[in-house]
Amino acid sequence: MSRFLVPERENLVPYVPGEQPKERKYVKLNTNESPFPPSPTAIAEGEKELSLLQLYPDPECSRLREAVANRYGVREEQVIMTNGSDEVLQFAFAAYCNQSTPAVFPDITYGFYKVFADLYSLPKTVIPLKEDFTMDLPALTKAKGTLFIANPNAPTGIPLTKKEIEGLLKANLSRMVVVDEAYVDFGAESVVDLIDTYDNLLVTQTFSKSRSMAGARLGMGFASAGIIADLNRIRNSVNPYNVNRVTAAAGVGSLFDEGYFQNNCKQIIAVREQTAQALKQLGFTLTPSTANFLFAKHERVGGEEIYRKLKEKGVLVRHFTGERIKEYNRITVGSAEDMQAFLTALKEIV
Ligand SMILES: *Cc1c(COP(=O)(O)O)cnc(C)c1O
Repeated sequence: MSRFLVPERENLVPYVPGEQPKERKYVKLNTNESPFPPSPTAIAEGEKELSLLQLYPDPECSRLREAVANRYGVREEQVIMTNGSDEVLQFAFAAYCNQSTPAVFPDITYGFYKVFADLYSLPKTVIPLKEDFTMDLPALTKAKGTLFIANPNAPTGIPLTKKEIEGLLKANLSRMVVVDEAYVDFGAESVVDLIDTYDNLLVTQTFSKSRSMAGARLGMGFASAGIIADLNRIRNSVNPYNVNRVTAAAGVGSLFDEGYFQNNCKQIIAVREQTAQALKQLGFTLTPSTANFLFAKHERVGGEEIYRKLKEKGVLVRHFTGERIKEYNRITVGSAEDMQAFLTALKEIV
């Protein structure tokens, strides 16, 4: 820390991304990346832009927003494209929270919500999950402020139903509800089609997981035209060129290749269910995940020990140290071969 950092930032605890080790080759099941490459159409569309990199990208992302609007059955003015969905989430914290409108989120959820709230020095209302890691809906219903809900939740993978989210929206129409659907394509119900009915709803999605484009940094928000205008006000005050032209074109290519996307999601879901069965047979308890990861705790062996011994054997999973979840590990669903290697290593440990 230099002596110039302002005191307001001294205690900021940044988000800690999953390890990306370079010293050896791991079976990498720790950052919820896709085991599949991007769609060939996405690669081809992206490549065409490389020779145009002397030019700024389209700040409106017109072609991409048109493709998104067609794919998701919404209007272009109901879509914003961002540098990963972390960016649209950041814009939402800037736009919809202040000293009298706290950020409301569960105690166990995506770590970035707390970081964004702290970055903007916002008050936080943290609602503990119930004992079984499901959402405390009555408490969330009552809470005042802007709600941030990951659906399915991370790192538990447990989804809310569309009805339950609609309940949260209806309960208080003057409260913003942000639904982070980073993992929705792996089996949960999306609420994108509720944006016409509820003007207090913002839905965020990402190309990082189900569309195999984590390295491209592409996310999106769906909401009423008014909310999208608010978010663009923030975006244009920070970085109007937030999505680069290679990424934007690759995004269009990905949306054109619906079959590839559907097939990959189907494969991840099938491998997730097989892996979950195998883990149960090895003595693990799992949350009912509808994401591209599993969240598992062993009946005898501790969470940290499993994480450490898997790493020694060349398999990386994500371990969190939070009091309520320290006996668990989050395991990304990789290819069938990755999961075989993982289960083989795990059998030797437990
Ligand atoms: C991965 C993830 C995101 C966003 O990731 P980006 O790569 O920035 O799109 C958002 N929310 C949750 C819960 C995630 O796991």
